[in-house]
Amino acid sequence: MNMICKFICKLKIKKADFDLIVSHAKNNLPNEACGLLAGKIEDGIKIVEKIYTLTNIDESPEHFSIHPQEQLQAIKDIRRLGLNPLGNFHSHPSTPARPSKEDIRLAYDPQASYMILSLMDETPVLKSFHIEKAKGTVLIEEITII
Ligand SMILES: [Zn+2]
Repeated sequence: MNMICKFICKLKIKKADFDLIVSHAKNNLPNEACGLLAGKIEDGIKIVEKIYTLTNIDESPEHFSIHPQEQLQAIKDIRRLGLNPLGNFHSHPSTPARPSKEDIRLAYDPQASYMILSLMDETPVLKSFHIEKAKGTVLIEEITII
């Protein structure tokens, strides 16, 4: 699958939410951490309003599965707040912030943002992707931290 470096969508996330993802990822080392992103879409720009830090039931440093019940609860909460599910995030403890073959295989929603935080280097790197399996493309979203 080709990695196309094209910005098809922009995404904004608050510094506090970025910090929350980083701390959740660090707390789960050496395993991957995961969660959901919720917010709204305005003029084609995704605005993350809330982060759900959830349990990786795989307890693995190389892959993740979001705890199904926690995911259900989070989706209910997202609806209750009148927000939209925007996608999910997970961490890569020792590899770069790009989707693994497994990440691509498990990416079912071409509308979703698949956010990956790499803790490989001292400074955490956050990237976000759209994965269109049908077209065989991975597109990078532009992230702005606000
Ligand atoms: Zn991954």
